[in-house]
Amino acid sequence: MNSFTDNLRKIEPYVPGEQSKEKDIVKINANENPYPPSPKAVEALKSFNTDSLRFYPNANATVLKEALAEYYGVEVENVFVGNGSDDVLALAFQSFFCSDKPIVYPDITYSFYPVWCELFNIPFKTYPLDKDFRINVEDYREQNGGVVIPNPNAPTSLCEGEQFIRTLLSYNTDSVVIVDEAYVDFGGYSSVALTKEYENLLVCGTFSKSRSLAGMRIGFAIGSKTLISVLEAVKNSYNSYTVDSLSIAMGIASLEDDGYFKSTINKVIATRSRVTNELRALGFEVLDSSSNFILVTHSDYSMKEYFEFLKSKKVFIRYFSLPRIDKYVRITIGTDGEMDVFLAETKRFLEEK
Ligand SMILES: *Cc1c(COP(=O)(O)O)cnc(C)c1O
Repeated sequence: MNSFTDNLRKIEPYVPGEQSKEKDIVKINANENPYPPSPKAVEALKSFNTDSLRFYPNANATVLKEALAEYYGVEVENVFVGNGSDDVLALAFQSFFCSDKPIVYPDITYSFYPVWCELFNIPFKTYPLDKDFRINVEDYREQNGGVVIPNPNAPTSLCEGEQFIRTLLSYNTDSVVIVDEAYVDFGGYSSVALTKEYENLLVCGTFSKSRSLAGMRIGFAIGSKTLISVLEAVKNSYNSYTVDSLSIAMGIASLEDDGYFKSTINKVIATRSRVTNELRALGFEVLDSSSNFILVTHSDYSMKEYFEFLKSKKVFIRYFSLPRIDKYVRITIGTDGEMDVFLAETKRFLEEK
């Protein structure tokens, strides 16, 4: 028997960190920023002229692109904006990964990549990270249909430097290389300057983590005019207005408040080093993070039990029951107060188990 359901799309979607409605929880499971957005961004929202919502947003979000171009020292034609960097990355996959050869990325990485490959029928191949969870750049010498890596990588938190990216680009001159810099502001190396030298390099960024605007959905990409114009053409083939008027206004205001931006980042970095040291003193192994999260394990305890214990105490961290990282947990850096609760419950776990 045929059924209309035979022709429906069957797909396994990406599963984000749990969003709980419970009160009094410590939510350090989705790499969100614990601090509020810039007061200037809040002011842009409060003083927003709602009558203007009758109109479509600023054509092509040019005003937001101009602000980003100025911030990063590039031309407006080198900037693309979208509805969160997930939107930008999904468009980049459709725009640049059209070869019959597989695209390549690390085996432990952002779990949205395989989902987009499946959705857009893009063949892919993964290369295993080494035993220290680092990317072996030599793997990326092989012919491929494109390269995508997060730098810093998620969920490892590790960042590669300029030499690594240059080597990667020298091995991949015939395909597009996407560097997903969702966490770069927390102390990582940014490849934005290299986009002026390498026409096939696309760097993606987001306002979700370092700018505390995950709820506004603002993402961007910086690359050569050639790459950006293809992204624009693909975007304009299905939805011309991906960035709404409010996001444009708040995004610009956030970029104008560099003092606040740097101060919240410095707070996250300071808390990260304190928590890293305290966990190491308790016998945990903590990778050297360049992100707003840490990847952690302990040789004497099950990390799944640790995750469940903390959950029962209303402290939400992230556990991935995936090969190779199921002995680790990922912990987002919250405020000092939140991390004190987390550390107190961690000590209780070590005592009780
Ligand atoms: C969070 C994240 C993104 C996407 O963020 P948006 O909220 O869609 O801007 C992209 N890549 C990585 C590696 C991330 O962790």
